[in-house]
Amino acid sequence: MSRTNLLGLDLNSLEEFFAEIGEKPFRARQLLQWIHQYRVVDFAEMTNLSKALRQKLEETAEVKPPEVLHEYISKDDTRKWIIKLSCGNSIETVYIPEKGRGTLCVSSQVGCALACTFCSTAQQGFSRNLTASEIIGQVWLANEYLGKDPKGNRVVTNVVMMGMGEPLANYKNVVMAMKLMRDDLGYGISWRRVTLSTSGMVPMIDKLREDCHVSLAISLHAANDKLRSEIIPLNDKYPIKELLAACKRYVDVEQRRHITIEYVMLDGINDSIQDGKDLIRILKGLPTKINLIPFNPFPGTDYICSPKPVIKRFQQQLTDAGLVATIRKTRGDDIVAACGQLAGEVQDKTRRTQRLAEAKQVTFQ
Ligand code: SAH
Repeated sequence: MSRTNLLGLDLNSLEEFFAEIGEKPFRARQLLQWIHQYRVVDFAEMTNLSKALRQKLEETAEVKPPEVLHEYISKDDTRKWIIKLSCGNSIETVYIPEKGRGTLCVSSQVGCALACTFCSTAQQGFSRNLTASEIIGQVWLANEYLGKDPKGNRVVTNVVMMGMGEPLANYKNVVMAMKLMRDDLGYGISWRRVTLSTSGMVPMIDKLREDCHVSLAISLHAANDKLRSEIIPLNDKYPIKELLAACKRYVDVEQRRHITIEYVMLDGINDSIQDGKDLIRILKGLPTKINLIPFNPFPGTDYICSPKPVIKRFQQQLTDAGLVATIRKTRGDDIVAACGQLAGEVQDKTRRTQRLAEAKQVTFQ
């Protein structure tokens, strides 16, 4: 019988686990603290548990974080960890220190099935969903590597689900892990500081509204359906109008909440004055902050980042219309850790890499 990995169980699931082995639910609280606050993985060291219970845990369970294969540190102090999974694949997690906060960019899947044309992860194809242990394990590992600041505070103050994968396509495990990020016995990060980024899985956005109150970011990247479907195939299923309606329902739950709209700047593709006008029109009435992301290149891509003056002009156009628009600072590009550059080692079950290569051959013949 395989042992249950307790690392990925939130408070409720851990209470259920203890009920199953005939123990009191309050044990779950003790375990959460040992695992996530003290990062103790050996039951023998959990001194406020009886010897008999520790023995029982050793027989039925384990606390098994994923393994770091390699750590890269950028000139700008951004860090990237390549994390090895038991299946032989690897994923990437990035830590971005800023003044007064530190943001961890967490992966949710091995590869991605969504095939967005401008994203490096997508070019790798898809292998599988990460387990809740593998997702929260990235937060666990970052804390293990980074420790605390001189005042004794944790340095991971924010989490963005913006690493490899589409988090809403791995809903159950992602929500379980996000609950652990929030739990005061876990990492104690407020919902506002946990951001989930999605390319727009509408039914799951509605579900998320009921389940956890994280900040939401939408990878919009285009202001009309024709272009959006070209660069984000999922748009065929959930077009812009439906997506923005789901965003409206999401913000309506809590008045103060706004939604971040992500917009990657692709030269000659989505950066014209007309694109700006369309964007202003479709976002009318929705409380949003627009984050313009300079396109980060990766091997094999034909896209080019919009020139800086064009990005500035686009930003100005949005600001002049009364919208809040910021330009995302590119971090960690010297260690290939910037947005859309995370690739890991993915054993592609969709054969996407091969299909792409074949398609290119046909085009160039
Ligand atoms: N699948 C989710 C999570 C990925 S988040 C989503 O689509 O939102 C990573 C963010 O970086 C998304 O907004 C994504 O669209 C954007 N991105 C992807 N490739 C990029 C690239 N090459 N340059 C800049 N941003 C990119």
